[in-house]
Amino acid sequence: MPFVNLNEILPAAKANHYGVGAFNVIGEPFICGAITAAEKEASPIIIAFAEVHESYVPLEFVAEMVKYWAQRARVPVALHLDHAKNVDTIIRAIRAGFSSVMYDGSTTPFADNVKITQKVVAIAKPVGVTVEAELGILTGVEEVAEGKRPTEDFYTDPEQAAEFVEKTGCDALAVSIGTAHGMYTWETMLDFNRLQKISELVSVPLVLHGGSGLSSNDFRTAISKGISKVNVFTECALAAGRAVREAVNDNSKSFPDFCQLGQKAIEDLVRSKIRIFGSCGKAV
Ligand SMILES: [Zn+2]
Repeated sequence: MPFVNLNEILPAAKANHYGVGAFNVIGEPFICGAITAAEKEASPIIIAFAEVHESYVPLEFVAEMVKYWAQRARVPVALHLDHAKNVDTIIRAIRAGFSSVMYDGSTTPFADNVKITQKVVAIAKPVGVTVEAELGILTGVEEVAEGKRPTEDFYTDPEQAAEFVEKTGCDALAVSIGTAHGMYTWETMLDFNRLQKISELVSVPLVLHGGSGLSSNDFRTAISKGISKVNVFTECALAAGRAVREAVNDNSKSFPDFCQLGQKAIEDLVRSKIRIFGSCGKAV
């Protein structure tokens, strides 16, 4: 089927208290692994591609590959641009056929984040493309290693979140409640009270970034308190890397075998996440 956008997936997830995974892809093994997993679990799926990953592959090429699999899939597939900091990239993604985009103005001052998100919504909405925005800062694990562990100064302010969504008209909001990008080297302490407050004040579905390495309990609690979209990347990349490393000294195996092993590892990991998020059997 053709791509769906976030508004065709997330409102049902929000109403019925389950989460839908957004899995970042770089190339074919990621795309095929994730969509196969969604089909086996009869789950809707969001395939995400991050602006920074254009260092590996152009977004136009990713769009064509994902289109090929989505058209043949029996489950709803959204193609979402992740963490775009440049409006030009967003316009390219929409032209290439992405059904959803994220503008990440989280590190810019509030007023600028509002202004540019409004501009992105004005570009995307008329052509049926949904917009995710972000308020509050998500650090990466590299920054955390330099001593910048997430602190409450970076967390999303509930009242400001309500004002932001009202002013921008975004379709989904990424929040900062203690997660970070990459794998955690510390015990996570998510601020669920803050999340609850945000979800009471904000009407649009909320997004949790930095899902790699969180416990099943953290996911379930976050989803029960208002998270509808959960982003996962690092764990998929590491699982595929492990599968390839285990086979690398087997001389009977060559590159296509490594691609298949990586793909199977991604498929298994995505299936396990779909079950934790509760979206299995929800494809309609
Ligand atoms: Zn993210």
